[in-house]
Amino acid sequence: MSKKPAAAPASPPQPAAVSRPSDANRAKAERLKEMLANKYTKQKETTEEMSRRRQELEEQMKGMNLNEAQKKKYREELGKMEAQSRREGMRRLTTDDFTRLSIIGRGAFGEVRLVRKNDTGEVWALKSMTKEAMVHKNQVGHVQAERDVLASADNNWIVGLQFSFQDDINLYMAMEFLPGGDLMSLLMKEDTFPEAATKQYMAEMIQAVACVHALGYIHRDLKPDNILLDWQGHLKLTDLGLSKKVEIDASYFGATPEDLNVNAAAARLDTRPLPDRKATHVRGQTNLPRDRKLAYSTVGTPDYIAPEVLSQKGYGPECDWWSLGVIMYECLVGYTPFYADDPVMTCRKILRWQQFLDVPDHVSRALSPQCLEFMMSFVCNAESRLGRTSMDEIRNHPWFAGLDWTSASLRSAPAPYKPDGADSIAALLSSIRTLEPSDARMAAAVNQLTANFDDFEEEETSRWGGQKKVGRRDKDNDFVGYTYSRRSVGGRESISTLFEQKAEGA
Ligand code: ADP
Ligand code: MG
Repeated sequence: MSKKPAAAPASPPQPAAVSRPSDANRAKAERLKEMLANKYTKQKETTEEMSRRRQELEEQMKGMNLNEAQKKKYREELGKMEAQSRREGMRRLTTDDFTRLSIIGRGAFGEVRLVRKNDTGEVWALKSMTKEAMVHKNQVGHVQAERDVLASADNNWIVGLQFSFQDDINLYMAMEFLPGGDLMSLLMKEDTFPEAATKQYMAEMIQAVACVHALGYIHRDLKPDNILLDWQGHLKLTDLGLSKKVEIDASYFGATPEDLNVNAAAARLDTRPLPDRKATHVRGQTNLPRDRKLAYSTVGTPDYIAPEVLSQKGYGPECDWWSLGVIMYECLVGYTPFYADDPVMTCRKILRWQQFLDVPDHVSRALSPQCLEFMMSFVCNAESRLGRTSMDEIRNHPWFAGLDWTSASLRSAPAPYKPDGADSIAALLSSIRTLEPSDARMAAAVNQLTANFDDFEEEETSRWGGQKKVGRRDKDNDFVGYTYSRRSVGGRESISTLFEQKAEGA
């Protein structure tokens, strides 16, 4: 925009010329508004939770034959416990609170590390992203969206965020660690999946994407390296860094997905443009090179992006179903349908997908007609894509006939592939909790725990642990409101802890 000269005397009044807040300032103001709203909602929830807990305590004490003095003691104990966890929740975290164990992922904005929290010994996946890169690449809004959606998600299908914090260099997100690695690594190992395994993964992915949509977001960056596997081999979505908040009519979902506690209607429209993530990867079509994953996850790839997103004609949540269709193709065929050495060529192929989409004969011969039909109902024009009007369209497709879609049932079925070393995970986590970092057994345990991940070297340029702690009121901070902790003021189990402590102390 060109600047106008200051008030030329003869010119008529120009309302548009009054100084307007910049986009960045407006975004920041919006953010602050949202933060305040969140804060009040949270306060209300805390108050409600406290009174619920008191009621519960009274109920429990009724059956315990206590005298008034003993009851009074329990009530005081509860108060103390709440105050303690409130203090813990408010303390600001820094990288000094964690011990670095290993790098498990490297991406466009930073790294993902396996870390141990010093005070509790808990193991987390800590993602760091440099602020500089994000401001530079216009990602400030997206990283807030990612934090928001991971923080609000309280279900089995999205990787849980435990804490987020920042220093002057980086933003950090501590997430649950998924030891099974990502779907890209599994695909590299297996090359393709049989139809039955593909169906099971697709059902789980569909549930997971439905959760993202129900939270009011479109993922937009669904690809195998953003799909992680837990120790049993069931999947969860991560990397909502490109996710976008939108309004989705709650009726779309039919019945609310059972494991969600969210209000889908409370979403607000966001019109940030799709960021520029150019891919420069090389990959053979038949022999998948070892660097396939690296190339994909570090620089991004257009392979899974829906045509309507590329053509910028406007798009909705159904663009995520296209991406799942492309992932399904890759699972069955062994490479993506619009693959090209040059990402620009990939984009062209996607835009003219009718011409380029082709399932090799030897693959299609081995698949059921319902399977192929289902895939084509995702990889097609947005206007006729399955799932455009309701989730039930997808769930009722004949390919899934007889499938029990409840999350509990999907997650309790044996996964198609159980990660290596699954049975020793619990033992590994518990030894990592207590071993000294310098102990040779520590390195061995970390190695075993991260067996499903590529090896990454520590880099000179890794900038871990900035100096300055950023205050709540730091006015130059673009990332106000980023800090978060899931730990509430004691959950349902807090009361039983109270009695346990008492019983032990007695
Ligand atoms: P980016 O935005 O850089 O792609 P991601 O969040 O996708 O960052 O993380 C990059 C990689 O790190 C993932 O592909 C995965 O292999 C690994 N990773 C990320 N989060 C976790 C986690 N919670 N548990 C285990 N591995 C993870
Ligand atoms: Mg990723």
